[in-house]
Amino acid sequence: MGTPGLTVIVGVPKETFPDERRVALVPELVSRLGSAGLEVIVQTDAGARAGFSDQSYTEKGARIESGFLDKADILLKVQPPTVDEIANIKEGAILIGFLQPYTQHAEIKALCTRRVTAFSMEMMPRITRAQAMDALSAMSTIAGYKAVLLAAARLPRFFPLLMTAAGTITPSRVFIIGAGVAGLQAIGTAKRLGAVVEAYDTRPAVKEQVESLGAKFVQLDLETKDAEAKTGYAKSQSEEFYAKQQQMMARSIASADVVITTALVPGQRAPVLINEEMVKTMRPGSVIVDLAAEQGGNCELTEPGSEVEKHGVKIVGTTNLPSTLPFHASQMYAKTVTNFLLHLLNEGSVHLDLSDELTRGPLITHQGEIMNEAIRKMIT
Ligand code: NAD
Repeated sequence: MGTPGLTVIVGVPKETFPDERRVALVPELVSRLGSAGLEVIVQTDAGARAGFSDQSYTEKGARIESGFLDKADILLKVQPPTVDEIANIKEGAILIGFLQPYTQHAEIKALCTRRVTAFSMEMMPRITRAQAMDALSAMSTIAGYKAVLLAAARLPRFFPLLMTAAGTITPSRVFIIGAGVAGLQAIGTAKRLGAVVEAYDTRPAVKEQVESLGAKFVQLDLETKDAEAKTGYAKSQSEEFYAKQQQMMARSIASADVVITTALVPGQRAPVLINEEMVKTMRPGSVIVDLAAEQGGNCELTEPGSEVEKHGVKIVGTTNLPSTLPFHASQMYAKTVTNFLLHLLNEGSVHLDLSDELTRGPLITHQGEIMNEAIRKMIT
């Protein structure tokens, strides 16, 4: 793709989604795209909220422009563009970003109308070859780390064991539900702060990983042999299973000062694993950080996007935690996006090999069609 003989232009717009501070390309990667024969244009102040000035981009060879980048052949984004923004994208351009295709139906239709070839970074297949393009894992690492910091800042207790002349302080107890990428990072961070950490996941394979980080894996008497899909993600379980899981986790929840929940099942509402009765059993001042808030929440009382106090327990449902660490979130995200774009390139222009699962997996729209079957069924 791209007109033969003309340099392909990569555009990096300023994100317009409320409170989004990340940017899809950082200055240090501009020259990598330049070496691949691409020209980079960055919208004025696109990186400002992440700590990257316009000058830092121009020093690396990018151009800065104030208007929306309607001449770009390839647009790099963090959040999905709005329908109005899509109407300004060059017809037939390539778009790479977190497109949230399961919920952004109007936007996906608009991308078809504009004949945009759109790739959704969250649909990247979880295969070894795609590891350097795994934007979701990169962002989950940030969310897991930040969840622990949020909890520690709100807890009226220390995390570590302290022996002082003013007395001995017992360490806080942290219980982490879901030990995927975010959960494992949360375990590591809470351990580094000195807490006593326990974790649970329905995928039995993670027990060893939890223990290798120095945390205790909570054994529940639940049938979890079939809990992992071929993709490495958790499979959805029955309502009875979740009810039994709630019952069996009750003791760990009641004795925790902090509970961090990260349990997700791709494409579905997050399972409810903490009900109101369980919240009532927690000590006053305890904290729940619900990283599944955006997918409905693992705690029944979570209010996505807000922090609330219920029965003396602070419940943090803040969404988009990666945006609260925008410098490194942008650096990590941009790396995955750049690696993916370079994968699509051949001698300075994009060549789509639809037989390659790495190209095909994240492809959502192409030549006016929805290319992902599950999303096509949801939208049409
Ligand atoms: P995720 O964000 O979809 O889910 C988070 C965690 O919640 C998962 O570990 C899941 O098992 C767990 N969970 C779901 N339902 C639960 C329940 N009822 N109770 C407790 N826990 C529950 O998953 P993720 O963190 O993005 O990734 C999951 C796994 O995929 C990783 O741990 C890793 O092993 C694998 N992975 C592989 C690659 C790769 O091969 N390139 C890349 C990233 C991740």
